[in-house]
Amino acid sequence: MIAKTNVDPSEIDKFQSIASRWWDRESEFKPLHEINPLRVAYIEQQAGELAGRKVLDIGCGGGILAEALAQKGAHVTGIDMADLSLKVARMHLHESELDIDYQLTTAEAFADRHAAQFDVVTCLEMLEHVPDPASVIASATRLLKADGVLFISTINRNPKSFVLAILGAEYILGLVPLGTHEYRKFIKPSEIATQFRKCGLQLTDTTGMTYNPVSKRYSLGSDIDVNYLMTAKFDD
Ligand code: SAH
Repeated sequence: MIAKTNVDPSEIDKFQSIASRWWDRESEFKPLHEINPLRVAYIEQQAGELAGRKVLDIGCGGGILAEALAQKGAHVTGIDMADLSLKVARMHLHESELDIDYQLTTAEAFADRHAAQFDVVTCLEMLEHVPDPASVIASATRLLKADGVLFISTINRNPKSFVLAILGAEYILGLVPLGTHEYRKFIKPSEIATQFRKCGLQLTDTTGMTYNPVSKRYSLGSDIDVNYLMTAKFDD
C-alpha cells in the first residue's frame, strides 16, 4: 500500500518539467530571483542575524532561497519532493561553493525525524501547491526549536489576486507560465493565522509584496491583497 502523502503529483510534475532552468534568471523562475533579496531582507529583519543558525527551507526547489540564506552563514537544509529540482540544487553548489543539505522528503516525514531542531523554518511560495497546507504548517511547527521562527509566504484569495496573480502574471504579463497557479489554492491571511493559532504559534508580522508593472520592480509594504509574507513564533 502506498501511504497517503500531502503531495499533489501534478504540481511536482509542473516543477520537474522546468527544473533545468531554476538558475536561469530570464526563465519562468525570474520572479523568484527578483523577489529573493526582498525575502532575505525580510527574514533577517524578523529573525535577526542568520549566521550560525540552523535553517530548514521547505519546498526549496533549485535552492534560490536556500543558497541566499547559506550565503548569510546559516546552516541550511532544503527539502522538496521534486528530485530533478534537488539535482539542480546540488549541482549549483559546485558553482556557488556553498554547503547545503538537500533531501527528497515531505515536511511531514521530515518532521517525524527532526522535531525541534531548527532555529528558522521557511516555507515560501509553496503552500499554494499542496493539497493540505495546514498539515505543512503543523509539520513546520514541530520542526521549530522553542525559540524558533517560522516564515511562510503565499498568495491571497480575492478578486484582486485572481486578476493580478492569474490574469495579470500568467496571461497578460507572462511573468510565469500558464497554469502555474490555481485560484482555489490561494490562501487568505486569516486562514494562515487560524492555523498558526491551532499550532500554538503567534503571528508576529504580516507584510505584503507588490509588483509594479511599469517599473518592473517588486517591493515590500502594507498591501497584502496579493502576495504576502508572515512571521510566527511560539506563544510566550
Ligand atoms: N520555495 C522556493 C520554490 C517555490 S516553488 C522559492 O520560493 O524560491 C514551489 C516548490 O514547492 C517547488 O519546488 C515544488 O517542487 C515544491 N513542492 C510542491 N509540493 C511539495 C510538497 N508536497 N513537498 C515538498 N515540496 C513541494
